[in-house]
Amino acid sequence: MNPKIAAYLRDRAPATPCLVLDVDTVEANYRRLMAAMPLARVYYAVKANPAAPILERLTSLGSAFDAASWEEIEMCLEAGARPDAISFGNTVKKVSAIQAAHEAGVTMFAFDSEPELLKLARHAPGARVYCRILVENKGAEWPLSRKFGCEVEMAKKLMVQAGELGLDPYGISFHVGSQQTSTGAYEAAIARVAMIFTDLKEAGINLRMVNLGGGYPVRYRAEVPEIDAFGDAIMGAMAAHFGNALPEIVVEPGRFMVADAGVVEAEVVLVSRKGEEDPVRWVYLDIGRFGGLAETEGEAIRYAFRTPHDGDAEGPVTIAGPTCDSADTLYEKSNYRLPLALEGGDRVQLLSTGAYVTTYAAQRFNGFRPLAEHYI
Ligand SMILES: *Cc1c(COP(=O)(O)O)cnc(C)c1O
Repeated sequence: MNPKIAAYLRDRAPATPCLVLDVDTVEANYRRLMAAMPLARVYYAVKANPAAPILERLTSLGSAFDAASWEEIEMCLEAGARPDAISFGNTVKKVSAIQAAHEAGVTMFAFDSEPELLKLARHAPGARVYCRILVENKGAEWPLSRKFGCEVEMAKKLMVQAGELGLDPYGISFHVGSQQTSTGAYEAAIARVAMIFTDLKEAGINLRMVNLGGGYPVRYRAEVPEIDAFGDAIMGAMAAHFGNALPEIVVEPGRFMVADAGVVEAEVVLVSRKGEEDPVRWVYLDIGRFGGLAETEGEAIRYAFRTPHDGDAEGPVTIAGPTCDSADTLYEKSNYRLPLALEGGDRVQLLSTGAYVTTYAAQRFNGFRPLAEHYI
């Protein structure tokens, strides 16, 4: 575990459940990503963790931001980001949000449908727009399915229409799914984007930007490829398809930037069995699906645990949260094992929980308070 976080937990023993996040690690991750992809511009996906200390540190490092709502845009502006360093990346936006962003000076907007494009033409005239296309999410542990993006033929037609509507047809984006463990997913998507660039050039439209989205994985229980492997694969594919005429490259890391900077500390509320002979113990924590661990849905993201008894004999467990909803069961099928000595009152740590935890917490379901947050 990160020694700075370990010292904080030891010395302060903050009330649980809480997230402790080391902002220096966020900076280190930003620098690692820039080293892996020096030609890319980083637009941090604010939704992964919108805490002010993170946004402020990234602003000071020159990062740009991918925001999904007017409220996220406001958070970036409050952290000192310039409006032209903010991309309004949600393809589903309220008119009032488009208007507010446009008035605040945001110039870059995503879309994936004609009605959204018409909204942008009307409420953000002249904006730089990029169309999100559907791509395969195979290899992603948290896939984004078909909710966002459109088919290639539609994207081409809409980019032509964008120009006719007085917008600036700026580029194409995709998202290969979150916690994407295959570098090939990016290579396949880049090939698809390159064909759109070529076809639109023939139609007289010169696109200038490729937005590779997020997805860069972090280590939870299992090893994942290093960020350099993604950088090499991506830059190799860009060079193969675009040659010397490289467009601007945008990346939107969320998870990669903040996950391993954070540790959730929780208290074990109860360890019990359903029958005297049942080998499986149920371990109930004071944080669960509704306390912020939403990505345990379908046991998709499998966090690594630390306990005070690590190294002692272990046995199988089902891990659950404290609320009265049975959906608040975190892991039943993922073969978790925890020490036999674990008991109520122990403090445990969930590693690499800096992403997609704090803002996913419900408002006092069963009365439980949302997760406390400490940025150090
Ligand atoms: C969620 C999201 C991201 C960040 O994805 P990660 O997998 O956390 O890197 C980037 N871009 C868009 C458009 C998103 O919706």
